[in-house]
Amino acid sequence: MRSISILGATGSIGASTLDLIRRERDKWRVCALTAHGNVAELARLAREFSAEVAVIADEACLPELRAALAGSGIAAAGGETALVEAAARPVDITIAAIVGCAGLAPTMAAIEQGGIVALANKEALVSAGEVMTEAVTRHAATLLPVDSEHNAIFQCLAGNDPAHVRSITLTASGGPFRDWPAERLALATPAEAVKHPNWSMGAKISVDSATMMNKGLELIEARYLFPVGLERLRIIVHPQSIVHSMVEYRDGSTLAQLGPSDMRVPIASALAWPERMDTPCERLDLAAIGELTFRQPDEVRFPATRLAREAAQAGGAAPAVLNAANEIAVAAFLAGQIGFTRIAAHAEDMLSCYAPPAPGSLADVIAVDKEARERARSLMESA
Ligand code: NAD
Ligand code: MG
Repeated sequence: MRSISILGATGSIGASTLDLIRRERDKWRVCALTAHGNVAELARLAREFSAEVAVIADEACLPELRAALAGSGIAAAGGETALVEAAARPVDITIAAIVGCAGLAPTMAAIEQGGIVALANKEALVSAGEVMTEAVTRHAATLLPVDSEHNAIFQCLAGNDPAHVRSITLTASGGPFRDWPAERLALATPAEAVKHPNWSMGAKISVDSATMMNKGLELIEARYLFPVGLERLRIIVHPQSIVHSMVEYRDGSTLAQLGPSDMRVPIASALAWPERMDTPCERLDLAAIGELTFRQPDEVRFPATRLAREAAQAGGAAPAVLNAANEIAVAAFLAGQIGFTRIAAHAEDMLSCYAPPAPGSLADVIAVDKEARERARSLMESA
């Protein structure tokens, strides 16, 4: 039996992970399950999977969680400190699936246990960068990428010396607006932005896919996960989302990983690593798909990937500032407060007006993130 904790158990990645665990119930002992504010769903999952502890990040919801778990024998906890404490419980594998930089401290706590951390929460790595990768080394933890592109790259690199890599290409679906003319983008609504053509995901990452900021964050994520040099990282638009990414070697060989657009495939790859496990996913039928197409990204209509590359080049705190500005802008867009094209514009404004020194510790990263959020909010209000 292996033990597992899922940070962000009620989200899209959390649900996909639990779907796989449910099918192999006898192989897993569920330790901690966490959520932000959805008490009913968290309590339901904790009971179904006989979790040891359920943590609700919004402490105001703790009495309701206690009531929902009464008589179950499952410990209930609430608040950010409890979240970090739960993440620090030693387990074989932690699924880091909280959305946003809110997942950073618990993810770091899991890394400090030295086990396997399967990372979906890209914003945490984008913001913390070397602070996180150094913690992984120091605590001899294993960071397995769950993001489909990075999981693909991880698989394509297996057994190869990274010194032989000529380039790594991240594929992007291009999102729901990939064929929209520039003038229509300004009018895009939240409902249109969250309707992704290929993947079913949480609201924040869906908007990020529509702006292409998701690919920008993934470029930075790749930079820290696969240190082959920023100049070797490329992005290509591939509307079918079948080729999840590829690695080109110096001899001219390119290895790609293909699969259905179902996050259970990369999650299963991390859960079973270095073995393989069965999934209920639809099998890839290339003849039915017929065509796989590729094109260059358009950074005029979608400037987010350029911004991310600039932030990655600048290094230090820039990726954390970019991420915080984007989180604030996406929330404002979803709340109907700003237009779609303001999201990237706002991130660009923030990058040019706030350049704090490079963070050297987790506390520094959290401080940069907090300050950047405050500045991003006031910049938005003054605009
Ligand atoms: P989601 O919105 O569906 O779920 C997010 C989870 O985090 C929920 O359990 C929620 O309760 C929890 N959460 C939200 N805010 C929190 C806070 N402040 N404190 C503590 N917990 C909080 O998101 P998702 O689509 O599952 O994405 C999760 C992460 O995985 C994101 O970083 C996303 O970029 C990444 N990811 C998702 C997909 C996908 O297909 N959904 C693919 C690749 C990467
Ligand atoms: Mg991805």
